[in-house]
Amino acid sequence: MPDKISRETIRNEAIDPDFVDRIVDAGADRLRTCIQCGTCSSVCPSGRRTAFRTRELIRKALLGLKDEVLSSEDLWLCATCLTCLERCPRQIKVTDAIIIMRNMAVEEGYMLPQHRKASLKLLETGHAVPIDDANREIRKNLGLKEIPPTTHSSKKALADVQKIMERTGFKKLILEDKEEK
Ligand code: SF4
Repeated sequence: MPDKISRETIRNEAIDPDFVDRIVDAGADRLRTCIQCGTCSSVCPSGRRTAFRTRELIRKALLGLKDEVLSSEDLWLCATCLTCLERCPRQIKVTDAIIIMRNMAVEEGYMLPQHRKASLKLLETGHAVPIDDANREIRKNLGLKEIPPTTHSSKKALADVQKIMERTGFKKLILEDKEEK
């Protein structure tokens, strides 16, 4: 009977042998002990509603498929609820590994447009979600100042946020044009 499982050839050039080391060194120290049991996928609330499969992501990371993992939208479907971490029989810090890979993705230029947009708002106003007219009105009706005592009303606080974003290199990351990726 023909094998119905589709098989993809993994080419050598797609493998980054240092990828797993970088994830492990950044804190996901038990990652290599994964036995591919699939518990993380089966308990994942995000996976119930999307095509996200935690086990598959971990497998690809272990294979060193850096570009495939870092460019994948799946990486951003985890809600960091930590259920996989609680259930993993190997006590792998699955969520930590995902956050580490997200950081690597952004450093390598893979940022979702929605995240870039929110980050630009943060740079511009000090809030990823700045106050809007509706919320100003609600504040007014509650007897509060229309503008909250945050970066919205403090130029110094806003300048501090912008300085932090500059010094950490985050500003450069969000302003860089990654369209060619
Ligand atoms: Fe690997 Fe843990 Fe997921 Fe099982 S639950 S596949 S051991 S990460």
